[in-house]
Amino acid sequence: MRRLLLVNALIFAVLAAAVALAYYGYSYTSEVSSRDRELELMHDLAIEKVLNIESLIGDADSKLLREVSIEPKSEQLGELVKTTGAAVVSVFVLDDQLRLVPNGNVSSRPQKDGVEFRDWFIAHAVPHLPLADQPVGVRGHRHAQWERNGAFKPFLFSFMKRVSGDRTFYVVVEDDLSHLTLRLFPQFFAVSTSPRFIYQVLDESGALVYGAPFEDASGLVVEVPFAETVDGWVLRVAEKDAGSQAAIERKHLIDSLLIGGAVGIILLGLVALGLAIRRERRLNDLKSEFISNVSHELKTPLSIISMFGELLATGRTKSSEQAHEYSEIIWRESLRLGRLIDNVLDFAKIERGMGAYEFVETDVGEVVDRALELSQRRVAAAEMTLEAEIEPDLPAAPLDANAFTLAVLNLIDNAIKYAADGKRIQVTLTRDPAAKHRVVLAVRDWGQGIDPEEHERIFERFYRAKTIRLKPIRGSGIGLALVRHIVHAHHGDVSVESAPGQGSTFRISLPISDTT
Ligand code: ADP
Repeated sequence: MRRLLLVNALIFAVLAAAVALAYYGYSYTSEVSSRDRELELMHDLAIEKVLNIESLIGDADSKLLREVSIEPKSEQLGELVKTTGAAVVSVFVLDDQLRLVPNGNVSSRPQKDGVEFRDWFIAHAVPHLPLADQPVGVRGHRHAQWERNGAFKPFLFSFMKRVSGDRTFYVVVEDDLSHLTLRLFPQFFAVSTSPRFIYQVLDESGALVYGAPFEDASGLVVEVPFAETVDGWVLRVAEKDAGSQAAIERKHLIDSLLIGGAVGIILLGLVALGLAIRRERRLNDLKSEFISNVSHELKTPLSIISMFGELLATGRTKSSEQAHEYSEIIWRESLRLGRLIDNVLDFAKIERGMGAYEFVETDVGEVVDRALELSQRRVAAAEMTLEAEIEPDLPAAPLDANAFTLAVLNLIDNAIKYAADGKRIQVTLTRDPAAKHRVVLAVRDWGQGIDPEEHERIFERFYRAKTIRLKPIRGSGIGLALVRHIVHAHHGDVSVESAPGQGSTFRISLPISDTT
């Protein structure tokens, strides 16, 4: 009954673990696909932002680069810069020899600084701009760190090769990077434009050019580089409330533990179920063997009884001694039959959990004596001797006398059945030398003994030793299981000491009431 409950609980646990795993699998897949969708969205958003910023700068620069003429009039460049809307610091017009044309420079820098910058630009920047290779009418750009006055600073130059009549000239615009970082970026990345995301722009060395550091690096982040203006810089987009790193790690840990636990339960459950099935199958085999053994055991005494009964009934006896002998056989066999039926019935009762005992303070010695008396005839019939040694004046113990007698009879019956060739049975009842409040009943025989590997198993129901199964010795395999059950019900222990060829000693250790 308890085992059935356990198996049911196990099946339930395995099913629950499987459902939990399936749920995790499902939620993981949907989490991954929603994560993918989110990443895609963020990537599209980042590309759109970069494109918008770059085309804003590129369009304004291209307009300006196209509108400048090879011979600008005084103030003309300044006016142009104002109207095109390009955020520029300075404009240069160079002839085909890369020399500045007259009125070919305008700068928002203060006068002196502007002149200084112009000279630096002609001497140090122009040689590094790929002006001559640029296709005519197409905006080119160069964004890099340049050394000026002993320090490296980033500059962004947009330029265009132009042709006027048969003359080639170049227009170069110095874009205003602070306008980009202080005006354009805040405008494009304002919270109001996309409240779910935060932005930052990093320069080529990874330093922040715009935005705040992302506090939580574990959330989703996408990066898109600038290509047409400030190349080398990247735009990074992150989710705003991605959850803290610690919370995500905790969730991962809990998930892993739960998944690991579920897998563990399934594996354990399967192993346990496998064992239970194996055990059940073995038990079934033993049960069928038991049924055939019991039927055989019932049939044999019955046929002996009916045979000798018929002989008596039909008066086919030679003498009154013979009649007496026949009736004694009938009596012996009916006793045996009765005991077997007792065993089976008691066993069935115990199996159904109904084995109720009635404990009464009893003299253990007397109970053992009675069992010895009951066995006397059978011992004699087996041509064995029974020596008994019962310590006198043992204190009483709480016993169910009938049940305990049955246990002792089973041990003596086994000695008769399995150790007849040893010729001797010795029964002793003494105080336990090792434990003061216990008595030990030992039933010793000099038979073939029991393999130590089977010492535990012979107490299992239906189990019969391997060597015995091959012999024509009748048995059902429930005797010792019954003995163990009875002894445990008396809060005692039963054990066997035996080796092949050395005989066996079965010991029952029982607690006694006396505490002196
Ligand atoms: P049964 O005698 O009906 O087979 P038991 O439960 O009484 O069932 O015994 C279980 C098994 O233990 C026996 O089949 C036998 O193999 C072994 N056994 C029990 N008592 C002895 C003994 N005195 N000597 C040798 N083997 C024994």
